[in-house]
Amino acid sequence: MRTAKEIKYIAIHCSAGFGKRESIEAFWKTKGWKSPGYHRLIEVDGTIHKLLDFSKTSNGVLGFNEQTINICYVGGVENKGTTQQPIWKAKDTRTEAQKTALKSCIKEAQQWLQKNANTNKIIIQGHRDFSPDLNKNGIIESWERIKECPSFDAKKEY
Ligand SMILES: [Zn+2]
Repeated sequence: MRTAKEIKYIAIHCSAGFGKRESIEAFWKTKGWKSPGYHRLIEVDGTIHKLLDFSKTSNGVLGFNEQTINICYVGGVENKGTTQQPIWKAKDTRTEAQKTALKSCIKEAQQWLQKNANTNKIIIQGHRDFSPDLNKNGIIESWERIKECPSFDAKKEY
């Protein structure tokens, strides 16, 4: 458990694929993670999955997890190759339903922080904004090592 007062960031992610909740969770299992990658996961249709209480630590941003609430939308890439040989490129694929859901998740997090006496100036930014070395080539190297995550400028938008 952590206290709300430790939180300094709300991080926005994309899943870098179009797998559903079950396949994403199965992937985390193969990595041996004990906690989910994100607190909230938003499907293409805007469905919000509450994977973890905000009071618990998720596994979204290496080195920052204790201070971060992680919110993820499914998508964030497009296939520029073929079905047989996909080449995944970063793209903002958020649907209107996902945009609305993202806002409501951020609001939910902010209200939880307020209720739990967090007085920090909360920084809302994309996963990529935590990373100091971006080469901006837009190529997805592997799941969740995506350099462009969440494939849009979350810092500007939120
Ligand atoms: Zn991410």
